[in-house]
Amino acid sequence: MKQVAIFGSTGSIGKSTLDVLRLHLDKFKVFALTGHSNHKLLFEQCREFKPAHVYISNPSLACELAAWLRDAQLATEVLSSTNDLASIASHPAVDIIMSAIVGSAGLIPTYQAAKHGKRILLANKESLVAGGSIINQAVKENHAQLIPVDSEHSAIYQALPFGYSSLDDIGVEKIILTASGGPFLNTPYDKLQHVTAGEAVKHPNWSMGQKISVDSSTLMNKGLEVIEAYWLFNARIEQIEVVVHPQSIIHSMVQYQDSSIIAQLGSPDMKTPIAYALSAPQRIESGSSRLDFTKLSSLTFTTPDTKRFPCLALAWEGLRRGGGSCAVLNAANEIAVAKFLAGKHGFYDIPQMIESAMNQFASSSPHTIEEILELDYEVRDYCQA
Ligand code: NAD
Ligand code: MG
Repeated sequence: MKQVAIFGSTGSIGKSTLDVLRLHLDKFKVFALTGHSNHKLLFEQCREFKPAHVYISNPSLACELAAWLRDAQLATEVLSSTNDLASIASHPAVDIIMSAIVGSAGLIPTYQAAKHGKRILLANKESLVAGGSIINQAVKENHAQLIPVDSEHSAIYQALPFGYSSLDDIGVEKIILTASGGPFLNTPYDKLQHVTAGEAVKHPNWSMGQKISVDSSTLMNKGLEVIEAYWLFNARIEQIEVVVHPQSIIHSMVQYQDSSIIAQLGSPDMKTPIAYALSAPQRIESGSSRLDFTKLSSLTFTTPDTKRFPCLALAWEGLRRGGGSCAVLNAANEIAVAKFLAGKHGFYDIPQMIESAMNQFASSSPHTIEEILELDYEVRDYCQA
């Protein structure tokens, strides 16, 4: 029995993770659940999975949750102090963590799990974007495992031989990330200036949390994924390519030196990469529907338009600049997206704010997790002003 802690269990990835675990209660036990404010859902999840611990960020909701659990005669302990996320991630009983908090709030549990040699199922791409080098070092030094959940990175992981040493050793030429193009794939520039948050979160293929849905509409999601691929696979910048594939059937590909391309295909459902991350290299039932090739009309591919979607170009720029640039880009994007969702920002204010922050903090060079958190805080402050 592997003990699993799910960070962000009330979110889209967290709920899908519980859907997969429900199919395999003979192999996995839920040790802890965490959420930000949805205490009703956390209570329901505790009733079903009976974890040892549940964490909620809001202390006043924690009291109510504890009362409900007492009334239901459940022994789950309620936690809500700031250090508790780190304590759960580093708890000796935990074998696997699902890192599915949104944004840089996921950095601490991911880092702590790495420091304590856990198997990390990584959905929270923002932690690698902000702290890739430090997390990779912690993973290496403590023999942790960092397994991608993001569908593109899971596809690449599946298209590489298990346990390979380096991309060069196995003759990888390119990593090709596919992008759906989001809801505004064919929207002209002058219309994009006036799109609303409501339109932005209507993704054509995937059902996801609000922040990643906006990121998909600006193509920043693909930008974050380029940076994520760079750290996950120890790739060179020029080895990573993005191609727009609106059907989201091919989840990504690896091109080898002999010109072979290995792709992973499947229905657009996060339960597939979650199941693989839980059990790789073994395969287990995911509960996802099967692809029917006879019902696929066509698979198409185009080049991304970085003029209409400058966020993607900013992510490449962040990687090229190095230092703290990607952490700055990530923090500025989080604030810009929150402002857009609140109706205080237009679509193109998002890349403008990110570019301004990247220039303002151009000389930043964080070397520790504490320095990354400090930079993240300063950039948020700058963008909030
Ligand atoms: P979501 O908004 O649906 O869920 C976010 C979760 O994080 C919730 O449980 C919420 O309670 C928790 N949370 C939010 N702020 C928090 C804070 N400050 N402290 C503690 N907990 C907090 O988001 P999602 O779509 O599930 O995405 C989660 C992560 O997975 C993101 O990093 C996203 O980029 C990544 N991801 C998501 C998908 C997808 O299909 N949804 C695909 C690939 C990667
Ligand atoms: Mg993805």
